[in-house]
Amino acid sequence: ATQKTHFSAPSPPPSVAGAAEDRVINLDHGDPTMYETFWQKMGDKSTIVIPGWQSMSYFSDVGNLCWFLEPEFGKEIVRLHKIVGNAVTEDRYIVVGTGSTQLFQAVLYAVSPHDAAEPMSVVSAAPYYSSYPAITDCLKSGLYTWAGDAREFNKDGPFIELVTSPNNPDGHTRDSVVNRTGGILVHDLAYYWPQYTAISAPADHGIMLFTVSKSTGHAGMRIGWALVKDREVAKKMVKYIELSSIGVSKDSQLRAARVLKVLSDSCESPSNETQPFFNSVYHIMAERWRLLREAVKHSGLFSLPEFSPAYCRFLNQSFENQPAFAWLKCEEPIEDCEEFLRSKKILTRSGRQFGVGPQYVRISLLDRDENFSLFVKRLSNIHL
Ligand code: PMP
Repeated sequence: ATQKTHFSAPSPPPSVAGAAEDRVINLDHGDPTMYETFWQKMGDKSTIVIPGWQSMSYFSDVGNLCWFLEPEFGKEIVRLHKIVGNAVTEDRYIVVGTGSTQLFQAVLYAVSPHDAAEPMSVVSAAPYYSSYPAITDCLKSGLYTWAGDAREFNKDGPFIELVTSPNNPDGHTRDSVVNRTGGILVHDLAYYWPQYTAISAPADHGIMLFTVSKSTGHAGMRIGWALVKDREVAKKMVKYIELSSIGVSKDSQLRAARVLKVLSDSCESPSNETQPFFNSVYHIMAERWRLLREAVKHSGLFSLPEFSPAYCRFLNQSFENQPAFAWLKCEEPIEDCEEFLRSKKILTRSGRQFGVGPQYVRISLLDRDENFSLFVKRLSNIHL
């Protein structure tokens, strides 16, 4: 059985769930368990030991604007961006957060005027990440309010536009769409990594959000980081994190530092037992998209977005986006794609939650091999 909450539990393992044919496949969340295999292969390299007396203080780096950032983690963030070439880190403040989810809230707090007559509008082009409206409005803040699809936005006054590139759910590379001044752009670059999209140039925006959840796959560590140009904005973000959680778990930051180090080492000095991380996961995503497109073709009931190839300066080759999610459209006469797939025991997230119609669903492609294989097999055999 599945709960109808935002965070229902994933499918139980096959041993308790019965035969593969009638097992429920839960691909509602973007839980990145696909990455476990790479880190298992890394063995002890990515293991850290934290003695009981360590990391006890609230403080990490009192001289830094972000006083709860572990210096080792900050160093590895800069190193990784330099190796991959996906973001400018010069003249930026790094703010660490409990996932980029907390940083998103910190940005809303930091950039909305605290003495305005009405709350600041928050918009993003549909289909947008389903958590944006939910998070923005959960406390019914007087500072900011969700104002929906950025393409339909025509209100005067200041606004915040969330630009997710590549986009969750549809995987397209994006730019801002509200065509006027007075807006603050927040670039959510959770998927701007070479396993998902060509790295054409280092991103150079005022506020950029990143997370380990979709880069290394360590969603459970709950670590994200923001690269922020403006000192006052960075200071207010730090203030928000101080108010909401007095900093960010040091244990997680130390572990994240090690994981980023092993990742960067694998790219800089690959060996027989250490394949470079991004090449390795790029190939997994390429193979998954090949199998998915084959299954969709075989079934004949669905369609997927198409992408144009672009040149990746990190992998030195051209390729098309191979997103973390499939943005699947059910063709006529199916009206409600989520409901239809649920009847086939495939759990997905309805297009409605992303600001579009029920003919679309979002399906996670980052599950473990076994679940992914079962999913494409089942999808390819769905016929009317
Ligand atoms: N932004 C986007 C676009 C995402 O897809 C996700 C994860 N689903 C997040 C932010 C949240 O990431 P985190 O786990 O770091 O909170």
